[in-house]
Amino acid sequence: MNELKNRTIVWLRNDLRSINNEALSAAIKTADEVLPIYCIDPRMFADTRFGFRKTDYHRAKFLLESLQDLRFRLRDLGGDLVVRTGKPEEIIFGLAKYHQVRSVYVQEEVCPEEQMVEDKMEAALASINLNLYFFWGSTLYHLDDLPYSIDALPAVFSDFRKATEAKCTPRAPFQAQPFKLIPGIKPGEIPALHDLGFQQRAREKKAVLNFKGGETNALLRLKSYLWDDDLLKNYKETRNGLLGADYSSKLSPWLSLGCISPATIFQEVKKYEEQRVKNKSTYWLIFELLWRDYFRFVAFKEGPKLFQKGGIKGKVLKARQDPELFEKWCSGMTGVPFIDANMRELKFTGFMSNRGRQNVASFLVNDLKLDWRMGAAWFESQLVDYDPASNYGNWNYIAGIGNDPREGRYFHPVKQAKRYDPNGDYVKYWIPQLSRVPSAFIHEPHKLTASEQQFLGWQLDRDYWGRL
Ligand SMILES: Cc1cc2nc3c(=O)[nH]c(=O)nc-3n(C[C@H](O)[C@H](O)[C@H](O)COP(=O)(O)OP(=O)(O)OC[C@H]3O[C@@H](n4cnc5c(N)ncnc54)[C@H](O)[C@@H]3O)c2cc1C
Repeated sequence: MNELKNRTIVWLRNDLRSINNEALSAAIKTADEVLPIYCIDPRMFADTRFGFRKTDYHRAKFLLESLQDLRFRLRDLGGDLVVRTGKPEEIIFGLAKYHQVRSVYVQEEVCPEEQMVEDKMEAALASINLNLYFFWGSTLYHLDDLPYSIDALPAVFSDFRKATEAKCTPRAPFQAQPFKLIPGIKPGEIPALHDLGFQQRAREKKAVLNFKGGETNALLRLKSYLWDDDLLKNYKETRNGLLGADYSSKLSPWLSLGCISPATIFQEVKKYEEQRVKNKSTYWLIFELLWRDYFRFVAFKEGPKLFQKGGIKGKVLKARQDPELFEKWCSGMTGVPFIDANMRELKFTGFMSNRGRQNVASFLVNDLKLDWRMGAAWFESQLVDYDPASNYGNWNYIAGIGNDPREGRYFHPVKQAKRYDPNGDYVKYWIPQLSRVPSAFIHEPHKLTASEQQFLGWQLDRDYWGRL
């Protein structure tokens, strides 16, 4: 009987959504029975060479919530989400063989680690004469619609943007469809945080947003940012903010795990432009999604170089790996309030504004003169919106080894702090001891007397301040 059924496995990774999911939709269209599966790969939770976990608490929590939500949504469509813990190339191989499936579909990834697992999957499936079929779905502009081959990708962002905008249009998203699950398969428990070695923490009340994973929450955030709170019309003016939920869309965590696709956001922005207002801000959100696309296409083109010390440019860098200094940076104890406030926000919440990220990255590279890969690895571990292409692409950019016509970006932490946090509200929010510092010194506490400095709880490095 089984041989008559056309069965397809959909291997889900960073496309945890039912709407506009190319691989899932193609499987539903072509197969009688479908098996959407997510494998919790232990390699994702292993230690990095720098001594901390590759995926820490915030990312793990967001992932588990996203799986739970997708399961509910796929059940509503008549199917289910199957979840297993282990290496996908082993688990999916076993299921494909046992359930006599005809093919495995997957959304294509752009970075070497993910591609290494794809290669293993392809090899395992080939041994039972099955193919792994790739679908494109992570960018606003579809790879196949680009007016150049990936090898001829423009070397500078603005050239990429102009060429792409002139010649392509984002594809319209397609709706979720009902489907039939392969019968007789156990859906499997979605692990709890403690199964992955994490202790449940109380929600950090200071967080900009209570980020909760899943497609449902992604759609709700899009709705509130555009329609309920009408924030998009001021995005360009507010996007460099630091405090609160409103200064930017905060859609990145959901985009990173694919709980929402950029095409869905684009469609909604177009609707907003028709029904509410069309201005520089509404365009600017699309502009930022183009940056995201660009980093993805760059990663696809450049391969492992993005992750190597010399980056895309292959430059020889002298940066050092000083664990003590690095620890101070990670825990927000460098003595520079603007840097420390941002690093504490990251550690406690898994999020940091774009302005903050640029500053702390520049500080690690240009002031502490540490190996940028340490900083990128810490971001990878902590950021609730971690995405390999955007993270390593941005770090390359700031370290002066990426696709930037300029030689590197220096963000002077005091000048930046005075400009973007003029009253010190942000630093006081994350470092409450600073509330006792006179406003004039809030971003330059080294100007205080020694006894005044004592209560700040960190040792100010006078040499460092002297250099700034
Ligand atoms: C050193 C460094 C590391 C970063 N690491 C990541 C990362 O791992 N994952 C990630 O999603 N973003 C990363 N960013 C980009 C950016 O900081 C975040 O996308 C943004 O802060 C997320 O907040 P938001 O959703 O409110 O953004 P918004 O300002 O509302 O922008 C809308 C969307 O555009 C995209 N976007 C905006 N800015 C960028 C950018 N510079 N690069 C790529 N995409 C962008 C994001 O998908 C974002 O959700 C990094 C930036 C720096 C400087």
